[in-house]
Amino acid sequence: AKARARGSVSLFAPEMDMQIRDRRALHQDLSNAIRNGELTLHYQPQAASSKSIDETDVVGFEALARWRHPTRGFVPPGEFIPLAEESGLIVEIGEWILREACREAASWPKPLQIAVNLSPAQFLNSDLVGFIHQVLLETGLQPGRLELEITEGVLIEDFERGLALLRRVKALGVRVSMDDFGSGYSSLTYLQAFPFDKIKIDRAFIMNLGRNAQSASIVRAVIGLGHGLGVSLVAEGVETQEQLDFLVDEGCDAVQGYLIGRPAPIDQFPCMVGLAPML
Ligand code: C2E
Ligand code: CA
Ligand code: CA
Ligand code: CA
Repeated sequence: AKARARGSVSLFAPEMDMQIRDRRALHQDLSNAIRNGELTLHYQPQAASSKSIDETDVVGFEALARWRHPTRGFVPPGEFIPLAEESGLIVEIGEWILREACREAASWPKPLQIAVNLSPAQFLNSDLVGFIHQVLLETGLQPGRLELEITEGVLIEDFERGLALLRRVKALGVRVSMDDFGSGYSSLTYLQAFPFDKIKIDRAFIMNLGRNAQSASIVRAVIGLGHGLGVSLVAEGVETQEQLDFLVDEGCDAVQGYLIGRPAPIDQFPCMVGLAPML
């Protein structure tokens, strides 16, 4: 109705109202999601590179948030994480995710890495470092096993603050990865300025390996660049043996993707975490 009063956008007004109402409802539902136990974590294995990967090569898992909405069904993280960010709910949701992932990883017989995604709003929240410290104490997880994945978006928002925070996080003994490397604009600047432990090469480049020669050149260059800086490289979205073979030949340190394992509840990976004997 408001939009219609403004005149020029009247054609689109009903649809816009719908979207806004829809978002409001979804936001309301999201604010109850933790309490209702609708959030869960799926885990995706990361393996040390080799041409024939098996369970013994798994070095860690990435925790990926899942929201099972009571009536809408599964809402993908690409939708509800941005919603949580806009509304400020990300802090509470992010804390739940971090605690849950650390608690889970601390229960594994094998001391594998656990990678947790941090969104910009979460990273720039002033209590983050204190909260991570508290969760490490609470769960008993060895700090070096925790890895935080951040995108350059964090750094674009507030460079100085981002750098200061990153240093404090690292002082806890926690590792930090640059996620989606190559997908943004100024990645090289950030790579030089920030003490990352790991670079995750964006899935888009891996997807195009074998489809165009440029992607192969870019992936090769990024691996060389990372190694030159003393940073290890992980390729995301590895789906085929051809992609894996290329990455191994180029010296990429680790791989993640459907070829190695799809994100799933952790009980689907008992051998990898050391809860069942290997076959
Ligand atoms: P991301 O951090 O880049 O996560 C990797 C995404 O790629 C995941 O999608 C994963 O399921 C998907 N993926 C992994 N391997 C393959 C593959 O071989 N092929 C293809 N096509 N896709 C693959 P997902 O779980 O839907 O997550 C999407 C994004 O949502 C994540 O991208 C991350 O940015 C965000 N996200 C997920 N969980 C969390 C979380 O707990 N906290 C925050 N802040 N963001 C999260
Ligand atoms: Ca192997
Ligand atoms: Ca990630
Ligand atoms: Ca990524």
